[in-house]
Amino acid sequence: MNYTFYGLVTLRMSESNSIGNPYILLTPGPLSTSSSVKEVMLRDWCTWDDDYNLNVVQPIQRRLVELATASDGYSSVLMQGSGTFCVESVIGSALPEDGKLLIIANGAYGRRLAQIAEILKINREVLEFGESELPDLSQIREALDRDQDITHVAIVHGETTTGMLNPIHEIGEIVNQAGRIYIVDAMSTFGGIPIDVQETGIDFLISSANKCIQGVPGFGFVVARKSRLKECEGRARSLSLDLYSQWNQMEEGGGKWRFTSPTHTVRAFAQALKELEEEGGIAKRFERYRENHRLLISGMEELGFQCLLPASCQSPIITAFHNPDSSRYEFREFYRRLKEKGFVIYPGKVTNVDTFRIGTIGHVFPDDFRRLIKAVGESIYWKSE
Ligand SMILES: *Cc1c(COP(=O)(O)O)cnc(C)c1O
Repeated sequence: MNYTFYGLVTLRMSESNSIGNPYILLTPGPLSTSSSVKEVMLRDWCTWDDDYNLNVVQPIQRRLVELATASDGYSSVLMQGSGTFCVESVIGSALPEDGKLLIIANGAYGRRLAQIAEILKINREVLEFGESELPDLSQIREALDRDQDITHVAIVHGETTTGMLNPIHEIGEIVNQAGRIYIVDAMSTFGGIPIDVQETGIDFLISSANKCIQGVPGFGFVVARKSRLKECEGRARSLSLDLYSQWNQMEEGGGKWRFTSPTHTVRAFAQALKELEEEGGIAKRFERYRENHRLLISGMEELGFQCLLPASCQSPIITAFHNPDSSRYEFREFYRRLKEKGFVIYPGKVTNVDTFRIGTIGHVFPDDFRRLIKAVGESIYWKSE
């Protein structure tokens, strides 16, 4: 079926290549969303009206907690902005003036946690590991034993730089045993990989609308222990990113945001949550992402590409591949050719290795990856020897 977009470009429509999209996004967010998620944005909402707060915002808050735990000791807060705004809001609101943050980093997003703490002038220590390395648990244990000033520990779950899946359960056990507060940036994994915040010992889990829940960009959210949220009162280092005040207003005001909320994005997110449920929940979505990932890896390896990470620590969210070391290959041209065929991939972000990345999350399906592999085969080498 053909669809005319602004009367200028005629685009082919398919299941995932829906209205207005000349290509699908195989990126770590924003990602491809369903037509139905985009369609619900066609009406306007009053940010102060019950229709919006009671029927859209509050059910989202409740659902997010249900997706993260069966415990009633947790609550959720929504926060305007991209995912980083939410991370900054948690770090800036959870750490007391005399607190100290231990940051475990093995990629760009881990280093971003440290950068936030630095800018907010929060006392900190950074345990940095190689980008293709799992964090060393004994070093984390030692750091917590050695330095009693450390009050909080922060780590990224799915390190989007490489696709590395960090061992948040094992680290959670260490952090909990040491009596410290545990902050997890699960931006690129929550909704796509099952996580139980209580079992994992997480005090603050952070994610955003436009990753595995498959909404559109505009806000992030935090699922946190209520007792920890209460402790944040008066600690914020920013007015707009004050996590406690935002939570308190949503609790007291029946789902009201403090400042203009991204109404259309929030309505789209409610639809995305409904579609997650229709798919069979997080476990089923995880299966689809794993199947996408399995097809991607086997197809790419057959074409001669090599993954950066060993399969044992690789997430099914995004995968980094080495750029082929060939005079017949050039990433920019490879990218352009794939885009022409309907696929947008992602450049690399690893510091010392020449890579590119392909995401397997979003409203994308095994058939899309079968088509992708065919397109990659036709696009990789175009120059003659
Ligand atoms: C996407 C992402 C973020 C947030 O990035 P924004 O560009 O601010 O949305 C943070 N951490 C991780 C691990 C991510 O994948």
